[in-house]
Amino acid sequence: MSRPRRATTPSSGTAAAATRADAQTTPHRPAAELSVAAQPGPARLHGTDAGAHARIAVIGAGPAGLMAAETAVAGGARVDVYDAMPSIGRKFLLAGRGGLNLTHSEPFEGFVARFGTRSGIMAPLLRALAPAAVREWARGLGVETFVGSSGRVFPLDRKAAPLLRAWRHRLRASGVKLHLRHRWRGWNDRGALVFATPAGDVERHADAVILALGGASWPRFGSDGAWVALLAARGIRVQALRPANCGFDVHWSEHLRSRFAGAPVKSIVARVRDRDGAAWCQPGEMIVTANGIEGGVVYALAAVLRDRIERDGSAVLEIDLAPGHDLARLETAFARPRGKRSLATRLRRIAGLEGVKTALLHECAAPDALAVPQRLAAAIKSLPLRLRAPRPLAEAISSAGGVVFEALDARLMLDALPGVFCAGEMLDWEAPTGGYLLTACLATGRAAGAGACDWLRARARADGRCHSSPGMNGA
Ligand SMILES: Cc1cc2nc3c(=O)[nH]c(=O)nc-3n(C[C@H](O)[C@H](O)[C@H](O)COP(=O)(O)OP(=O)(O)OC[C@H]3O[C@@H](n4cnc5c(N)ncnc54)[C@H](O)[C@@H]3O)c2cc1C
Repeated sequence: MSRPRRATTPSSGTAAAATRADAQTTPHRPAAELSVAAQPGPARLHGTDAGAHARIAVIGAGPAGLMAAETAVAGGARVDVYDAMPSIGRKFLLAGRGGLNLTHSEPFEGFVARFGTRSGIMAPLLRALAPAAVREWARGLGVETFVGSSGRVFPLDRKAAPLLRAWRHRLRASGVKLHLRHRWRGWNDRGALVFATPAGDVERHADAVILALGGASWPRFGSDGAWVALLAARGIRVQALRPANCGFDVHWSEHLRSRFAGAPVKSIVARVRDRDGAAWCQPGEMIVTANGIEGGVVYALAAVLRDRIERDGSAVLEIDLAPGHDLARLETAFARPRGKRSLATRLRRIAGLEGVKTALLHECAAPDALAVPQRLAAAIKSLPLRLRAPRPLAEAISSAGGVVFEALDARLMLDALPGVFCAGEMLDWEAPTGGYLLTACLATGRAAGAGACDWLRARARADGRCHSSPGMNGA
């Protein structure tokens, strides 16, 4: 699926559309000065090792946590990875069911622009592990990738399991210790990390901690957002987790729901106006569900739709059901005498509409519009679907919201909890599907792993080693 375009004029559709260029940046200290070499895969740290004795706890064994662990062990730290689940990378494996879209091949500027208002913050992090470097990293694990027709990048076999297997093997070989069925529950009053395990609660100490706990979509695959309360209790500002890349509720009639739930609506262009009145459009397809709509064009425009619903209570998604047909020609054709031909026949012959597209037209166009050629043509080219609510976060592909960047320094360390770093989807950025999510998780994991090593080195230089748990001074 191509990325959504901002229409050059409100009604210009895909023609001469331009990418959104006015993304604002949130004030943040630049991460560009991370002292790691810009090369594929985990950072090789310059200068002294993080210290043969420094111990880093990585909590969360998704792509962000595993990349953080790989980077930290390459920096000389002893690394323990903890995860609540019985195995690592469950959501990564889930992504593999859809073909594992690892990254995207578009030029870097366009890639970064996909992070919208966070593009300025994400740029240096992504530059340090750019899409080409992600492909190199996969190759290093024995997994070749290819660029699909949409520019998306996938493993040759489109599977996640071989890559994850090779990664786990390499991590173990490099000394990373995995501790599964360890659910992090916060810090105790001795400053230790507390984990719930099948054998009861255990406490663990570390010189630095990297949290890579994910968002809150598909919670049965591990990331359930329970960390939000733990960090909020420590005064960390967390933007509420919200669905991203999600479906939306539409109040369908029983007729449409019972006859067309599950039907793909192919070759359409969807349009929506954002809060500022700018029109965004996305060609592709969507799926009618029992509750509403989901699929490619919907996910691509989901952030704008969600924000409109939050502000206005609902959002209108305009659908061009016949992108190949010109409005004026449709008007002329429908104005000709219809003879004995039914509306269904004329819709099929003139506009190529049938099945679910015809049903949507009857469902969403004003009833009297179908009898007036100009209004019928207008409805075909711009059918309004009123969306009532995003589907619940648990069903979404990813989460928006998370730890705000203003709470972090350039190394992704929490200002309020020195020695505690954050990475992956639990940070406050969002992006559409297309490989942007995994690339950002890997890139922020790398930055946090490198940042933790940097911090430990600096601390060792400044005042010798310290054995209390990080971030919990005086806790
Ligand atoms: C159906 C689906 C398909 C997707 N397909 C793609 C795709 O093709 N391309 C793409 O770029 N992205 C895709 N994504 C998104 C991508 O999988 C996520 O963005 C990515 O996995 C997030 O990585 P993460 O490491 O930040 O978090 P996660 O992968 O969610 O990992 C977080 C880990 O933390 C652990 N954890 C959470 N809380 C605790 C706790 N208290 N104690 C201990 N451990 C804890 C969890 O068990 C989990 O293992 C898809 C998502 C879904 C749901």
